[in-house]
Amino acid sequence: MALIRCENVSIGYEGQTVVKDLDFSIEAGDYLCIVGENGSGKSTLVKSLLGLKGVEKGRILYGDGLKQNEIGYLPQQTDAQKDFPASVYEVVLSGRLNSRGLKPFYTGGDKKAAVEKMELLGIRDLAKQCFRDLSGGQKQRVLLARALCATKTLLLLDEPVTGLDPIVTAEFYQLIRRINRESGIAVVMVSHDIESAVEDASHILHLQEKMLFFGTAEDYRKSRVGKKFLEGADKDTDGGAHNA
Ligand code: ADP
Repeated sequence: MALIRCENVSIGYEGQTVVKDLDFSIEAGDYLCIVGENGSGKSTLVKSLLGLKGVEKGRILYGDGLKQNEIGYLPQQTDAQKDFPASVYEVVLSGRLNSRGLKPFYTGGDKKAAVEKMELLGIRDLAKQCFRDLSGGQKQRVLLARALCATKTLLLLDEPVTGLDPIVTAEFYQLIRRINRESGIAVVMVSHDIESAVEDASHILHLQEKMLFFGTAEDYRKSRVGKKFLEGADKDTDGGAHNA
């Protein structure tokens, strides 16, 4: 049984369908990149996967012991988050909120998990610092540690490298690859960066009102849709100078 299975899913706002006929599965340990132009419905799909938005048609099934509240989510950056007046430790620990149910206090296990994730991501020495004083790359590591506190199974990242410089971006991608490979945690990432997506991901979902492509990254590279989108990305970024 897949971690998540979308069966014939359509999603929209007030009767206006944004994406339709989505049929795909996410298996344990997969690394899926969701790509597509702006406004193609990527974030809308993410909201539905998290159970924050209902579907118009079809159904989303969760299997392999995954519950909706056990998805580790790293949301798109907002200014409000950037100025969050809390320590790094508190932000990471808040990743345990979802699984804590109605218990009023964090348990020893919650605190241990927060420290472990900070260690894993190399941010333990930042624990007492104020989140809002960190660099963009450090903030993303903290939010990644927070997301890891919420899951053992699936991370969902919505455009996680927006605004980061190329070196910090490369380091962040490397961390994600490591977490995916070493912990076997499945990764679903909405990405604008198609070249890195194809390099790192095991699977690609390309949205444009419907599912233009779903399959392995290798097959995507060879597909008409993939070739066209990759060529376009090349022209946008460096005038086609790169010959990857
Ligand atoms: P992407 O993440 O691919 O850029 P979105 O999922 O954000 O795309 O948006 C898909 C479409 O849904 C867009 O046309 C957008 O205007 C519309 N949309 C997004 N959020 C809302 C909302 N809260 N209410 C109405 N329409 C929305």
